[in-house]
Amino acid sequence: MIEAFRDNGLNTLEHNAEINVSRLETILSSIYYQLNKRLPTTHQINVEQSIGLLLNFMVATYDSDSPGKLTVFSMKTMLATMCGGKIVDKLRYIFSQISDSSGLMVFAKFDQLLREVLKLPTAVFEGPSFGYTEHSLRMCFPQQKKILLNTFLDVLMADPPPQCLVWLPLMHRLANVENVFHPVECSYCRSESMMGFRYRCQQCHGYQLCQSCFWRGHANGPHSNQHQMKEHSSWVRKTTGWDSGPGCVPSNTSWISNP
Ligand SMILES: [Zn+2]
Ligand SMILES: [Zn+2]
Repeated sequence: MIEAFRDNGLNTLEHNAEINVSRLETILSSIYYQLNKRLPTTHQINVEQSIGLLLNFMVATYDSDSPGKLTVFSMKTMLATMCGGKIVDKLRYIFSQISDSSGLMVFAKFDQLLREVLKLPTAVFEGPSFGYTEHSLRMCFPQQKKILLNTFLDVLMADPPPQCLVWLPLMHRLANVENVFHPVECSYCRSESMMGFRYRCQQCHGYQLCQSCFWRGHANGPHSNQHQMKEHSSWVRKTTGWDSGPGCVPSNTSWISNP
């Protein structure tokens, strides 16, 4: 992503410089074409479709104030937030964009960042919980002081993170498990192709739900949605021990990491 910004000359532009939709389209094309070059031929992405979808989403998200134009900062913030990768790497990059030459965060720039980044949940109708307000900045850094990179990372990656950014680590966890397949049946919808997260009841033996049923609060039989559930992001069959059912293992493959 950083490479694509550089290749398209964005590093030389001011954050407030405006870019029009056709330039944005050029940048997105270069990102997707470069990405395809690094992917195996069996996993190529549909470049035209991806550009179209992302372009429409970005324009709809950011366009309300000045139709047809986005700022360099909006675009960088949005792409850096939504792209694949580790949350810590993204936050480091973002910090580099909002800090001064002595490595201190500039509060006004962080405020601007929050305005931009909170347009993302607003675009998917989560504005009432995660929209920008004047309190957003104070929610993250209650005492105004000098913020260095490490403090910045500690605050934004805390568990739980600041309320207005709670969705950010969740978005990463969702992206990480998007293609994880669990070869077990959902106890509610009986679907045998469980993708994403799997939720296992801590009280009912062998009761597990696909993410879609869990998020809708579905429950049947002796199970209740008040029971405690454990979230799993992988599936491994246990061969020993009293429980021969699906086991609980920590995520251990490189593409499932706990952000
Ligand atoms: Zn289900
Ligand atoms: Zn239960």
